[in-house]
Amino acid sequence: MEKSSDRIVIAGGGIIGCAIAYYLGLKGVKSTVIERRDVGCEASSAAAGGLWPQAESSRPGMFMDLCLAGNAMFEELSRQLELDIEFRPSGLLHVVEDEQYREEAEKLMEWQLDSGLKVDWLDASETLKLEPSLSEDVMGSLYFPDDNHLNPLSLTRAFAVGAKKLGAEISTGTSVTGIKTVSGRVSSLVTDRGEIGADIIINAAGCWAGQVGAMVDMEVPVEPVRGQIILSEPLPPLFKRCIVTRDVYIIQKPRGNVVVGSTREFVGYDKSVTPEAIHLLHRGAVKAIPRLKSVSFIRAWAGLRPYTPDEIPIMGASDGPEGFLLATGHFRNGILLSAITGKLMSELITDGKASIPLEGYRLSRFLRGAEVERK
Ligand SMILES: Cc1cc2nc3c(=O)[nH]c(=O)nc-3n(C[C@H](O)[C@H](O)[C@H](O)COP(=O)(O)OP(=O)(O)OC[C@H]3O[C@@H](n4cnc5c(N)ncnc54)[C@H](O)[C@@H]3O)c2cc1C
Repeated sequence: MEKSSDRIVIAGGGIIGCAIAYYLGLKGVKSTVIERRDVGCEASSAAAGGLWPQAESSRPGMFMDLCLAGNAMFEELSRQLELDIEFRPSGLLHVVEDEQYREEAEKLMEWQLDSGLKVDWLDASETLKLEPSLSEDVMGSLYFPDDNHLNPLSLTRAFAVGAKKLGAEISTGTSVTGIKTVSGRVSSLVTDRGEIGADIIINAAGCWAGQVGAMVDMEVPVEPVRGQIILSEPLPPLFKRCIVTRDVYIIQKPRGNVVVGSTREFVGYDKSVTPEAIHLLHRGAVKAIPRLKSVSFIRAWAGLRPYTPDEIPIMGASDGPEGFLLATGHFRNGILLSAITGKLMSELITDGKASIPLEGYRLSRFLRGAEVERK
């Protein structure tokens, strides 16, 4: 698809835009990232950093396979990237607290085992042996040894630093304000600091992708879903694995701080933190790990996930002007899917074809009036 002379411009310097620039760089292709504020300043720095393809999936299929392929890239990436991304191959315990949830957990375990994935049922004593700080009320847990975590902002910065070293330009403090086309092809990206000639433009503007899409008269159905998180003071090691309950997820980060997330709120572009959410998250955390009751929580923040109606990203060609591509709508999984998205988009651009087909992720699935299935 790409000719060596093509000028590639990426709108949005979140983890997705930076990952695409990095993987293009690995293929010897230079690009320019346009970010209106700072690299990773929105959803990508608000995230918890969970890499949870198994615990977060409700059924097998195309999207689950993509998540697994993405997850498999991080061990090597953590060695390859220059910055420490705090990757921890921790595993995850999905705690089961009641009989109804146990039935759901059994079903999840059944199809995942059928798919050849690693997952174990642990009874209460086995669960507590693995993580003694959990509440003794636990009935058992599903153990996913391959669901891990990392630092999402460090990963975003690492992609950006790596991309720059490989020849990318990252222009921060610059807003995309328009896109020009000539004879049905993109020709330039207009910013508040001037115009940049472009043969390929990638819309990686997270939950603002609709605004960038509108610049070429295209409806991109991505909307913000607020997530709030609370963070504890640094603590001595309390638990090792990521803990997920019906109410919250909990991760102890390498510096000892405990992260508790998260809400899922359709409140537009409002990034406020609310006392109700702080209370809910704190209560959920203390219920799972009683010792957190006497701990100080020192920070709370909110971020906006880029949500699509089927909760699956929009990636690939756009059916709009030629040269206009999309990589957005990663919703709850943008950190997990960052590397695989960067890799596949770079393949699409340089080879005309991605090694995992992107047809199922095209924007056109929403335009045909097709019934949209949730993941
Ligand atoms: C509370 C919370 C917890 C999460 N936890 C996890 C998790 O544990 N694991 C996981 O995999 N995912 C998680 N996510 C989801 C993940 O953070 C997102 O899917 C991911 O960050 C999306 O990346 P992005 O680059 O598409 O969007 P963003 O990071 O939002 O980046 C988009 C960028 O585009 C820029 N931009 C927008 N408009 C313009 C314009 N006109 N001109 C220039 N720049 C523009 C913005 O400034 C922004 O920096 C979480 C999200 C939240 C909010």
